[in-house]
This record gives sequence, C-alpha cells and structure tokens, in this order.
Amino acid sequence: MRRIAPKITVSVKGIRTRVKAMKTMKVEKANLEWSELPFGYVRTDFNVRYHFKDGRWSDAEVTADEFLPMHMAAPCLHYGQEAFEGLKIFETVDGRIVAFRVEENAKRLQRSSERIFTPLVPIEMFREAIHRVVKANARFVPPYGTGASLYARPLILGTGARVGLGPAEEYVFLVFVTPVGPYYKGGFKAVKALVVEEYDRAAPHGVGDCKVGGNYAAGLRGEIYGKQQGYPVVLYLDPREKRFVDEFSTSNFIAIKGNSYITPESESILQSVTNKSLAQIAGDMGMKVERRPVDIAEIESFDEVGAVGTAAVITPVNTIHFRGRDYTFGNGDQPGPVLTKLYDRLSKIRTGEAEDKFGWLDEITI
Ligand SMILES: *Cc1c(COP(=O)(O)O)cnc(C)c1O
Repeated sequence: MRRIAPKITVSVKGIRTRVKAMKTMKVEKANLEWSELPFGYVRTDFNVRYHFKDGRWSDAEVTADEFLPMHMAAPCLHYGQEAFEGLKIFETVDGRIVAFRVEENAKRLQRSSERIFTPLVPIEMFREAIHRVVKANARFVPPYGTGASLYARPLILGTGARVGLGPAEEYVFLVFVTPVGPYYKGGFKAVKALVVEEYDRAAPHGVGDCKVGGNYAAGLRGEIYGKQQGYPVVLYLDPREKRFVDEFSTSNFIAIKGNSYITPESESILQSVTNKSLAQIAGDMGMKVERRPVDIAEIESFDEVGAVGTAAVITPVNTIHFRGRDYTFGNGDQPGPVLTKLYDRLSKIRTGEAEDKFGWLDEITI
C-alpha cells in the first residue's frame, strides 16, 4: 500500500481551484505479481467510452462491461474502419501517477482518423478519457520499482450499420487499461532480426503511417514467418523499391553510427512517439539526429541498431539477416552503450527519476 496525497477540486466563487488535501488518501493496490505480468490482458475495474451519433460526441460513460455490443454490419468489422493508440502510465519515485506523452498520442489518433474517415477525437477529450480511466483504475497502476506499468489502449471504431463502402454514421471511442510487466524480465537483451521481402505490411500511399488494425492483420504473416525461422523481430523494406529500411512490424528502426542517431524517413512507416522522444534526448545529449532514407546497404556501417516503441522502449538488435547474410552489431547479446544510455534516460523520465525537461508527463490526480 502506498500513500498518495490527493488533490481535490473545490469551487470558490465559481472558480475551480485545485488544492492539496491535508490528509493522505490510501490507494489499496490490486493483489498482483507486478513484476511477473506479461504484456497481455488483465481485467481491471472500468473502461471509458464515448459515442458519436448525429454528428456529435456523447459525454464519457464509465463502465465495468468488458464487452461492446455492436451491429453485425458495423464497418469496423467488415472494412477495418478502426484506429488505435497505445501509451503507458507510471507511478513515479515520489508517488505521483503520470501518463507519458498523452498529447502526442492524441494527435496521432487524429492523423489516423483523418485517413480512414472517422470523426476526430478532440485532444482534450482524449486527455479526459485517459485521466478518467486511470482514476477509475488507480489500484491497477503498478507500484514504483516493479518495472511494471499501466498500458492504455484507446480505440475508435466505426459502428453504425452499413453495407456499401462508405464511412460509418456512428462511432465508439473507447479506452481500456491493463497492467503490464517489465518488458525485460531478465535485463535489457539484444535480439536477431530478419528482413522479410516475401510480404509487405504497408504500401506506398497506403496506411503504413497510420495506427490502424489493418496494418497488423497485413503484418501477421511476415511476423509468424520470421518467428518460425527463429527471429523474434522482422524488418520491412520500403514497399516500392525494397531498397530502403522502413521499420520493424510493430516498432521503428533506429541506428547509432559514431555520434549520429539515424532513423528512416519514409511515407509508409508509423511515426513512433518513442522514436521522436529518443531523438530529442539524443539531440539533447549532443548527438546529431538524422531523419532520412536509410539504404539497406548502409547497415554494414552501423555501430548499434534498435527497435523502438512504447512496449519495450528499445529492443537492441544484434543481428540482421538479409539475403543470406548476417550483419552484426555490438557485442553478442549485450546492448550497445549509446542505446543503453538513451534507454535509461527515457525510462527515468517516465518514473520521475530524471527531470521531465521537455514536459512529456501528464500528472493524473487520483
Ligand atoms: C505503435 C507502433 C510503433 C511504435 O510507436 P510508439 O508510439 O513508439 O509506441 C511503431 N510501428 C508501428 C507499426 C506501430 O503500430
């Protein structure tokens, strides 16, 4: 059990002010083996939903129901009119509850929504949804020091009945949360990657730059193909020429070469918030940040390679298998020094152990 000083909202002459409560409130944590949790679904108490109908969003509905009733002719089911997000919530070293980069995720959901023609979730509504769902599930925010976090999954779905191709008339925006364990149970370890050319996950001018379910369905075969051959991660090249590095199936590609942080620029990759944050940290550490097309022939010259995303922050890659040849980086399964430094700095910002100098954390008052 941890003590958290709650802030309460009081109204003075109509002006709402937040004040720190005098007494501390106890949040009795759920009885879970926090450090043993997988990256999977654990039931929590509530989720939050908003319904879009007749051109407007409803107020938030906080519910314990894990199921979503919907019409069998919903376009999200037939035509994949669906987009999602993923972000994490932490308890900091000083007992605050913080969400990492809410606004960036809200903006990205808007970009995905524009592309697949769903209504936009206003940034403030997205933020409110995160705050509400975390407050309602405060006992599932893993304690500081366990390495675990609360993963939030926002999604927007086209639900109204429709059969001909066209956008739905009704939508649901839903956020659920689930506690997830530390990604690296046995410490930060490097993995092997396979360049898959047999299947693509995205197309030029397609939706590779949007976080939509269809990309994941398209990437499943390549992912399983890689795993069957012993590669935990697969790397895709640009779908037009198969010459430039795009990204891994669910994470961006970054490379370290001397004092440079290099990451591909391409129209068919998802703009990772983790990548953007790491690049900013690298720049802050005095590194040169290069966002440009990365020719696959260039991988030979890289010192360190990583797969980056919310789930693991950085998965160091020590081998890339490409057209019958192994390209190796670093030292066996030991992660390289620069990626380790970047990983530590980002991880510590999220848990309040390093200064949040870029204003990335949203404090959630319980
Ligand atoms: C979500 C995702 C990432 C990682 O993005 P983050 O914002 O860092 O979590 C990378 N690639 C794809 C295809 C993704 O869907």
